[in-house]
Amino acid sequence: MKAQEIPVEGWFKVVRFEEPAAGLDAIIAVHDATLGPACGGCRIRAYENVQSALDDVTRLSRGMTFKNALGGIPFGGGKAVIIADPKTQKSDALLRAFGRAVESLGGLYYTAEDSGVTEHDLDIVRTETKFVAGLAKAGKGGNPSPFTARGVFRGIKAAVRFKLGRDSLSGVSVAVLGVGAVGMALCEMLHDAGARLVVADVNEAAVAETVRRFGAQAVRSEDCVAAEVDIFAPCALGGAINAPTLPLLRAGIVAGAANNQLATPDMDAALHARGVLYAPDYVINAAGVISVGLEILNAWDADDLARRIDRIGDTLTAIFERGAREGRPTGAIADAMAMDVIAKAKKAA
Ligand code: NAD
Repeated sequence: MKAQEIPVEGWFKVVRFEEPAAGLDAIIAVHDATLGPACGGCRIRAYENVQSALDDVTRLSRGMTFKNALGGIPFGGGKAVIIADPKTQKSDALLRAFGRAVESLGGLYYTAEDSGVTEHDLDIVRTETKFVAGLAKAGKGGNPSPFTARGVFRGIKAAVRFKLGRDSLSGVSVAVLGVGAVGMALCEMLHDAGARLVVADVNEAAVAETVRRFGAQAVRSEDCVAAEVDIFAPCALGGAINAPTLPLLRAGIVAGAANNQLATPDMDAALHARGVLYAPDYVINAAGVISVGLEILNAWDADDLARRIDRIGDTLTAIFERGAREGRPTGAIADAMAMDVIAKAKKAA
């Protein structure tokens, strides 16, 4: 296997791994390893070229540094991408080759699920490396989506308390864009709590399920951001808040599961300027990686995880309060708090 280090300023280590016989062309990026070994999922996607894969993996790995720091787990930020179409080019040989790439880093990076990668795929990766998490083991950890949904639910409650001064979600309206693994579980919790749901997804069967089970109102995906609701919850892919969609937004709160909800960093200040309360994505969606982190530490415990997930609400409340005090956007506040955690750890080392 060919392993070539790519120098990226500000990143601890970025390596491209190629094994053409297995169809592997992958990049593993470790952004920061101050708090511990880097931990973050692997994404398989048909990137247009190596540069776009590099852009994605560097951006995502940096996000993991902040997510892990504020999630309170002793891990740095890392991520992997494999340049391949997950529908047609994924094979056991490719997954095993990726496992060897992870193994070659000697524990600097732990991999897990991300888009295009299933639990079954990780079982195959694991035949070549022990540095894998997110594996289903007799009720312990495994698929992080239900935990992520619970964390987002906690975050939504914290945002509603802060912005609307209400402890109950009864009658609160939420537009959920993307009702996949996390979005569907979130809808169930919101429905049980008495919230009114508006949903959109390109998957019509999933939308129909929310209409049937939760009495949700279905809208077209492109109309979801403009729904007349209290909360907009992006739970599909990234970039839901961008320059064209921002003026359409009616909700006073943006709080959802998707990674990289803001298409560009300036959207943080733009939301703030419009008086919209934004729950920074990597804080509100951290429960999945907290579960994965506890698994890696061999310390996974359902009660402990539930307590840690509940703390996501407290962390967000602290971010909202500091943002209001300092008159600054919540995304910037979260970044500052995460950098503070890392700076303190560096000092203590
Ligand atoms: P998923 O693939 O199960 O669900 C995503 C849903 O979005 C699918 O139903 C899909 O049809 C829909 N979708 C995709 N493109 C769309 C579009 N343009 N318009 C409308 N709907 C669209 O993924 P998931 O695991 O539920 O994750 C959802 C988001 O949350 C992702 O951004 C993911 O990165 C993020 N996230 C997930 C976890 C986790 O534990 N699964 C953890 C952290 C962050």
